[in-house]
Amino acid sequence: MNVHDSERLSGLLESAGYERAADGADADIVVFNTCAVRENADNKLYGNLSHLAPRKQSDPNMQIAVGGCLAQKDRDTVLKKAPWVDVVFGTHNIGSLPTLLERARHNREAQVEIVNALQEFPSTLPAARESAYAAWVSISVGCNNTCTFCIVPSLRGKEVDRRPGDILAEVQALVDQGVLEVTLLGQNVNAYGVSFSDERLREDPTTPPELPRDRGAFAKLLRACGGIDGLERVRFTSPHPAEFTEDVIEAMAETPNVCPTLHMPLQSGSDRILKAMRRSYRAERYLGIIDKVRAAIPHAAITTDLIVGFPGETEEDFQATLDVVERSRFASAFTFQYSIRPGTPAADMPDQLPKAVVTERYQRLIELQERISLQENQAQVGREVELLVATGEGRKDASTARMSGRARDGRLVHFAPGTGDIRPGDIVVTTVTGAAPHHLIADAPIAAHRRTRAGDAHAAGQRPRTGVGLGMPRIGVPAPAPAAGGCGS
Ligand code: SF4
Repeated sequence: MNVHDSERLSGLLESAGYERAADGADADIVVFNTCAVRENADNKLYGNLSHLAPRKQSDPNMQIAVGGCLAQKDRDTVLKKAPWVDVVFGTHNIGSLPTLLERARHNREAQVEIVNALQEFPSTLPAARESAYAAWVSISVGCNNTCTFCIVPSLRGKEVDRRPGDILAEVQALVDQGVLEVTLLGQNVNAYGVSFSDERLREDPTTPPELPRDRGAFAKLLRACGGIDGLERVRFTSPHPAEFTEDVIEAMAETPNVCPTLHMPLQSGSDRILKAMRRSYRAERYLGIIDKVRAAIPHAAITTDLIVGFPGETEEDFQATLDVVERSRFASAFTFQYSIRPGTPAADMPDQLPKAVVTERYQRLIELQERISLQENQAQVGREVELLVATGEGRKDASTARMSGRARDGRLVHFAPGTGDIRPGDIVVTTVTGAAPHHLIADAPIAAHRRTRAGDAHAAGQRPRTGVGLGMPRIGVPAPAPAAGGCGS
């Protein structure tokens, strides 16, 4: 989500007349888009800001802006700790960035604007995409769940869903520019549609409040993506196991361009810990969803997120996680050692575990998952795969002359390109010849190579663009009236 927000920040600034600085050049404006989910985000931010202080001192016209979750959380603390910052903006008003930069320059005074609710769905903002072939498309922002370890609900707010017509129009606009793959993005994609009945109620107070929510809204959206000509791959992240419905599995299985892959966070295999995390599914339900997905889509690659060392986790709870991991046969997993996020309910729970215990369990979990990932990848050897060629993923490519791509199931494959002029964004078909826990090798001859418009766009250095400018100020034009809702400094 933050990566996509950064694409919006680029799009906004480019629409306002700024140009991207060359790599390594001293930029006139530096924008930090921060994340509060990762550990030590604040140390990293203030460390980076300190590095920029001498530069700012020698060039007062240079501007520094700080946005994202950490800015939303810390608000004017950012300015207290780093008074040389020019602009602080939050997660709900990234569209204000050009105005705030202009106002800070004009008034020669730092601007802080954090608002508590979304002003417009962020996808209406211009976005300059990083990739010519694969794109993020937001379907919702915010989250109505209250997982006790998670800072997202307090920083991103309640879930707001975007209308299907707007989503599909953005997907179509991307495909028209050559994009082959979209990833539908939301904190909890299965809840998609939950905000529509609230909206209807607001628009027409006579709407019966018990109007049933359309629980099939996400499956319908997947099927509608299936009708977009030229869209070859559809992915989504992340679904929540509690709200996973069978119509989504059916839509995945029956819509040819929806990829055979599912990233579904488990977090813990212990029902007791899931309850303490306030995640309302239980391990058996999770395993039941996986069984159904595999029955409908036999080659689906299933991946997950896991947290080790949640407060109060016993050895028995941890063994339950190992057990579910063993039974789930994940293709890969993002594994995290629990650490306190101030402001979350779990931060104040008793029985925080000693770091050494967490690290030791984490090592055991990694060992198990690496063994499973390797076995699952070894089972791919000999299989023919269709790859969407990517820009150098993985370190090995330079020394081996291999290129990299993603298979339809999301696996990373380093392949031998032969003598053909293969470009990122093209499609190739090859055969898997080797496996490691985190990637596959395909040194077989290329069986097919399709040059694509995405490959042409990548080679020409063209980046897809979406969204519309919303009357942003351009450089040199007087700043307009302050945006509504700001708290000011
Ligand atoms: S579902 Fe839970 S972990 Fe995911 S964003 Fe919502 S509160 Fe956070």
